[in-house]
Amino acid sequence: MAQDTERLAAVDSGVVPTKTAAKKNAAKKNATKKPTARKSTYVYAFDHRHRRPPMEYKDLLGGKGANLAEMTSVLKLPVPPGFTISTDACRAYMVDGWPVGLTDEIAAQVAGLEKKMGRRLGDAKDPLLVSVRSGAKFSMPGMMDTVLNLGLNDRSVQGLAAGTADERFAYDSYRRFIAMYGRIVLDIDGEHFEHPLEQAKAVLGTTNDADLPAATLRELCAEYKAVVKVATGKAFPQDPMRQLRGAVEAVFQSWNGARAIAYRVRERISHDLGTAVNVQAMVFGNRDDNSGTGVGFTRNAATGENTPYGDFLINAQGEDVVAGIRNTEDLDALRRHFPTIHDELIAIFARLERHYRDMCDTEFTIEQGQLWMLQTRVGKRTGAAALRMAVEMTQGTGKGAARWKISKDEAMGRVSADHLDAVLHPQFAGSGDVIATGLAASPGAAVGQVYFTADGAEAAAKRGDHVVLVRNETSPEDVHGMMAAQGILTARGGLVSHAAVVARGWGTPAIVGAESVKISGNSFTANGVTVNEGDWVSLDGSTGTVVLGQLQLVAAEPPAEFTTILGWADAKRKGKLAVRANADTGEDAANARRLGAEGIGLCRTEHMFLAPDRLPVVRRMILADTPEEEQAALAELLDVQRTDFIEILEAMDGLPVTVRLLDPPLHEFLPSVEELRIKQATTGLDAEEKALLAAAQSWAEHNPMIGTRGVRLGVIKPELYGMQVRALMEAAATLRKQGKNPIVEVMIPLTVTREELQLARGWVQEEIDRAGKGLRNKPTVIIGTMIETPRAALRADEIAEEADFFSFGTNDLTQMAFGFSRDDVESRMMPAYLEQGLLKRNPFETIDQGGVGELVRLGAERGRQTKPKLKLGVCGEHGGDPESIELFYDAGLDYVSCSPFRVPIARLAAAQAVIGGAGSETK
Ligand code: PEP
Ligand code: MG
Repeated sequence: MAQDTERLAAVDSGVVPTKTAAKKNAAKKNATKKPTARKSTYVYAFDHRHRRPPMEYKDLLGGKGANLAEMTSVLKLPVPPGFTISTDACRAYMVDGWPVGLTDEIAAQVAGLEKKMGRRLGDAKDPLLVSVRSGAKFSMPGMMDTVLNLGLNDRSVQGLAAGTADERFAYDSYRRFIAMYGRIVLDIDGEHFEHPLEQAKAVLGTTNDADLPAATLRELCAEYKAVVKVATGKAFPQDPMRQLRGAVEAVFQSWNGARAIAYRVRERISHDLGTAVNVQAMVFGNRDDNSGTGVGFTRNAATGENTPYGDFLINAQGEDVVAGIRNTEDLDALRRHFPTIHDELIAIFARLERHYRDMCDTEFTIEQGQLWMLQTRVGKRTGAAALRMAVEMTQGTGKGAARWKISKDEAMGRVSADHLDAVLHPQFAGSGDVIATGLAASPGAAVGQVYFTADGAEAAAKRGDHVVLVRNETSPEDVHGMMAAQGILTARGGLVSHAAVVARGWGTPAIVGAESVKISGNSFTANGVTVNEGDWVSLDGSTGTVVLGQLQLVAAEPPAEFTTILGWADAKRKGKLAVRANADTGEDAANARRLGAEGIGLCRTEHMFLAPDRLPVVRRMILADTPEEEQAALAELLDVQRTDFIEILEAMDGLPVTVRLLDPPLHEFLPSVEELRIKQATTGLDAEEKALLAAAQSWAEHNPMIGTRGVRLGVIKPELYGMQVRALMEAAATLRKQGKNPIVEVMIPLTVTREELQLARGWVQEEIDRAGKGLRNKPTVIIGTMIETPRAALRADEIAEEADFFSFGTNDLTQMAFGFSRDDVESRMMPAYLEQGLLKRNPFETIDQGGVGELVRLGAERGRQTKPKLKLGVCGEHGGDPESIELFYDAGLDYVSCSPFRVPIARLAAAQAVIGGAGSETK
């Protein structure tokens, strides 16, 4: 089913040909095109001599392939030989089907591999088996397909049995291969393979796969082949090269599977990168009790502590560890079972760290007492771990010639916005009844109602519920439910199980391996307590405790390294790019200042008007029939605005505060026309409601976002702007008298012409002059404008004549440049645009570099043509987005302004922009 959905999604998206279409396409191409001699290569052995270090070829080889090549050819570690089919091949496949020449290249590489291994694929005596794994440039854990034990067929299984003198092992490998190949390559529902296996175990009265004898496994292989025949109408492919081609195509196609697409949208990875495919000689951790497999981290990925960490299983294949089906042992257990290998592994960890100058994660296998490294990469980590590692790595690791350390600039580059976000996550205020404990897999606190299926969790989240997804273990099929969940709880699995890795990557609190949790249908029991679907639980992903009911959440207490890194960042960006906050109340302003804001870049005064006690006054002002009535309402508003401004200016004493005069269309302050009409038709309207209906109708606009708002409102109701400036200046004067230092910046919204700004500036200046009369200590005030329309950016040279500063309103600028209604498109069409790759990013989140970004650059440049010292900032949502911040710095802006919660992220991103290159790897 899932496979079908994926296929459909891929077809809908038009990104990739269907399996059959791709084959037909390929056949057509092959038939019509003469195979031309290709100069470039699609396939590279792990020990290929690249011109530069393999890690520099991640675009081509994918992350896994590049690391395998690096481990093989540079570090000379024990890596089973193999080769990588490049992302070029995948991209070519997505456009035109199976690339010309690829079959020959693979055949040549297989021949080379056979030579190295002294074994042949499909051999009847001592066969070579290979694994086929995806490996994109950016890791997408579990999102794409893997096929193991490829090369087995009716003949070679006998060779394997003879070669290993272990018939049970050979048939177990074969039945795993047929099932895996059947599911992944031939699209057969996995249940068709599960069922016979469960039946076989039931007949023998066991629940453990390992109890099945060779004869039963042989019968299972026959049954599985029959399943394939029935489902596909064809026999299970016996030719290893055909098997290989099928597996490679399946991996290519899994790039455009629904779950991979969803993951990329979430992680902002471009859809057109494609994946590489790694074909590697198999080594067997499930060979016997002198074998095993595991994953290891060179430091603790959850806490950052400089101690290697790992999960390990004796007599198992890699998937068993990651799938969380069996509970794993740690590296101490590895030392007890395999002391020499343990030491060898720890030495490799040290070499990897020194080479990559970072924490690495690894997959390793022990085959009959020999250690093999199957994979490594710079490892994912929690926010707290990222901060700790970054700071500690500047202090140096290792001794003598092996000592290495990173610079402060590098350390800052190691911490991402997500890491900071994670340590700023809320935590629980108190405690409650702990019903279960598990492994603290991803930090943070989550409160939600329990759901047991990914679909259920997703549906509940769509209804607006807070959801905790509870599963025995998760698999990539559960990703949509995991995305919708506030927190994730699994009964099985270790710290590197699918649930743990995915949750950590997203900063979703998670607890895994909570063994006391016994799930049965729509409920679970834990230590005698039953929890039904829809019941509330609270998860503490930092301690691993599950509490019944809803605990209260409080703000986080970030670790000491948070302050250290941000201190370095502030020093780096000092005098180059300041960070302010968008705040509308004294409380927000104080909070923003605590988080490091150096002023307010946007105070939206309309938020003050919307408070319940203010709204009736605003409405009275709108409804006023006479100038006297209007003046009376404005006088009332003046009083409350003055109080608001005093609070804000006081909280930001000595720092600049940009106050924007009223921006939204007036109808936003009136009740909805529809609601009043319904009331009119049912219970009728009183006199005030009738007046409100008349006003709402008269102020209603077809396109209010491009209607009477911003400075246009000021042109129609100059008294309103006058009142706001008076309140502001009176507030500043009050503080000045108290010896404080208010720094005021008055900002006019949505200006499009110089003449408009000239007029508005006149009103503002008049009020400033009036307020300043007789005042000895005048407050500092400047007047500027937002640049929010393409015209304003284009005519910035003229507008600058009347402005002391510009603040780019990139929310509106994006809306107006794209013609995308910011209130409508994000929920309706944006998901489809992102899934189909029509847009690489949501432009309301990350600035559209080539369009809106260009307008910012142009506006900045033209504004400074007129006034070289013109102060420039940005206050749209993009002001808190690291990628956008890079562009703003490059465009010469003096500051960015964002919501208080994102201020620390912006401080770090600003430093990274100054350092340059940080986080610039294109996704
Ligand atoms: C903007 O348009 O970018 C902006 C900051 O103003 P608002 O979001 O209030 O329209
Ligand atoms: Mg705006």
